[in-house]
Amino acid sequence: MAKVQAGFADEIKRFGAVDFSACYNCGNCTAVCPLAENDNTFPRRLLRYAVLGLEDDIQSSPEPWLCYYCGDCSETCPRQSNPGEMMMSLRRYLTSKYDWTGLSRKFYVSKAWELGAIAFISAIVILLFALFLRPTADPAGLINAEGGVKINSFVEGIEPETFVTIIEFGDWTMAAIVSFFLISNIFNMYLKIVIRNKKVKVPLRLYVKEAWNLFFHFGTQFRFSKCKDWTYWALHWLVMTGYTIMFTMIVVILPWFQTERIHPISHPQRFLGYYATFGILLAIIVWSVSRIRRTGEVHKYTHASDWIFLIMLFLTTLTGILVHFFRIGGLIYPTYYTYVIHLAILMPMLIIEVPFSKWSHIAYRPLAIYFTSLINSAAALEREEKK
Ligand code: SF4
Ligand code: SF4
Repeated sequence: MAKVQAGFADEIKRFGAVDFSACYNCGNCTAVCPLAENDNTFPRRLLRYAVLGLEDDIQSSPEPWLCYYCGDCSETCPRQSNPGEMMMSLRRYLTSKYDWTGLSRKFYVSKAWELGAIAFISAIVILLFALFLRPTADPAGLINAEGGVKINSFVEGIEPETFVTIIEFGDWTMAAIVSFFLISNIFNMYLKIVIRNKKVKVPLRLYVKEAWNLFFHFGTQFRFSKCKDWTYWALHWLVMTGYTIMFTMIVVILPWFQTERIHPISHPQRFLGYYATFGILLAIIVWSVSRIRRTGEVHKYTHASDWIFLIMLFLTTLTGILVHFFRIGGLIYPTYYTYVIHLAILMPMLIIEVPFSKWSHIAYRPLAIYFTSLINSAAALEREEKK
């Protein structure tokens, strides 16, 4: 028998849900949702679960991740139950439930915790630079043949290759921390949705057969493109590809990305950097203006974590742009100090947002689609075998 959790509505409201208890299950949201497909209970089933306090059913459901928050359902809801925002709140709630450390919940429900953690990691980065990577007092030789700043030669007594290796080591340490938490949270998600699913058992061969879903939906965000306003999809796709490119360049191939020489504008290193920066910056501007103006259903309600995410992303992008132009302009010390500030914003953003908050959604969405296809294919197989 399903376990009913008293006070569950209040718990969900801490993650941003507004008054969903007025829902009377009319089905309007299902009728207008472009992603409901053949499911005549999406998304209203989740509202029912929440109203009834069926916590386990919500935790084992991939459905909140199948919604891309176009807002159509909220516009047509006759009871102002705001199913779109409810699905968004459930995604935050589920992120906190997949996370076994309890940090995700703290970051989502307490601004002080999230800002405190950001300040703490920033302080560590600044302290490490202040103690071990202070800039040389003699700027001679820090300008390259093109008149730009040699970004890897700031620290006296440390060769450029060694400097890149040190930063690379920092990046890999950060990536290892982030991957450890994210992968363990993904495993928790898998246990809740697939393994503890009492209705169906997934045979091993289906994991391989359905794996394309994971890559296809991660790379294209295809479901999102079915929403009527395609600009939402386009912006998300720009950010996702831009972020993936930047993450790859700063973590996986840093020596190729952070060179002493400033390459010509046609070089792929610069082209990819400009593409990623443009995509991320455009999305930040559009989302921020829409949230300030509260344009449309999607931007009516903004959780504190949404603002913190946008501000961190903006500051990371802005300092990255400044470092680039200070370098080109030959401004030695502004380049160094902005570079340190850039890393002091980037590191906490990645360590907090990727495993515990908003960036984790990039991983959870395609995984939820993959897990759903596993369950559906396994159920279809069982039906076939019973015939
Ligand atoms: S959320 Fe609104 S539209 Fe959807 S079933 Fe409930 S009352 Fe109807
Ligand atoms: S926000 Fe859009 S995608 Fe999500 S449930 Fe509502 S109509 Fe469907």
